[in-house]
Amino acid sequence: MEPAIGSGLNTAVERYYDITLDLYEDLWGEHVHHGFWDPGEIPGPDGADRHAATDRLVRELVDYARVPAGARVLDVGCGIGGPALHLAGVLGCTVEGVTLSARQAERANEKAQAAGVAERARFHRLDALGTGYPDESFDVVWALESLMHIADRAAFFAEAIRLLVPGGTLAVATWSVRDGELDADEWELVRQILVHQVMPDFSSLPEHERLAGAAGFTEVATVDWSGAVANSWDPGFAQIQRFARGRTVMRDLARERGVDVLGFFHAGPLMTRGFDTGVITYGALRATKPRQAP
Ligand code: SAH
Repeated sequence: MEPAIGSGLNTAVERYYDITLDLYEDLWGEHVHHGFWDPGEIPGPDGADRHAATDRLVRELVDYARVPAGARVLDVGCGIGGPALHLAGVLGCTVEGVTLSARQAERANEKAQAAGVAERARFHRLDALGTGYPDESFDVVWALESLMHIADRAAFFAEAIRLLVPGGTLAVATWSVRDGELDADEWELVRQILVHQVMPDFSSLPEHERLAGAAGFTEVATVDWSGAVANSWDPGFAQIQRFARGRTVMRDLARERGVDVLGFFHAGPLMTRGFDTGVITYGALRATKPRQAP
């Protein structure tokens, strides 16, 4: 048993990804994030286009943030390495991936080995806010659907700017919440999603932009991709009902791994409602570390 890292939240996130690793991998493969579709496109039956759609999201973030080929990348919240293997493979980047889950890091290292990129993609069990890498170690800090789990987002942006070389790039894609006031029902929906997905709270896209600017980033921009990713919760694509259909499966899993595992099954309908009502949003952020200290 490895020591816990950081706060109670980190321990809960670590545990959530430890106990759901095989569920996510069976259903979605190595990409633990949304897919991306053009307007009017619908997901293929039984998740037939899963790899294309999740791979597309990675490519969209590479393009949006202008991640250069061959860059040294810190992958914050690397999961089991799907996006990092794309960066190390197609783009020839050198990637250090960090995750709170030792099981994820181990699985990601196995996958890098199998893909023949183990020298360029390495994965570690580390808290993104305390990696210990020296200042200016990376050309790119990449955080694909991990920032929702980090309570101190100001600290995340400060750490990202510390780790980047001058002129370096921050690339983020994240679940977010609509800007402005929410009514009681909307809060309740958000609260349930947060509890089931082990997230402390959501920020809006404009809040993310403000935090990046306050940390010293320039050329900060965001794009709302809610419409492009919402299909990911289409029951046919998400496939969660394949498990949920048999209530005994859920009961056995809860008995074996603890009730937290059930959060995995609750996400689909809640997120669909979140996107349908516009309460949940999703977006990407790009930003640059200034070349000269202001
Ligand atoms: N980026 C991956 C995985 C997304 S799942 C993908 O797109 O496939 C969220 C990931 O964020 C998990 O790997 C989880 O361990 C990681 N994470 C959450 N909080 C973290 C923290 N404080 N430090 C490091 N990793 C964290």
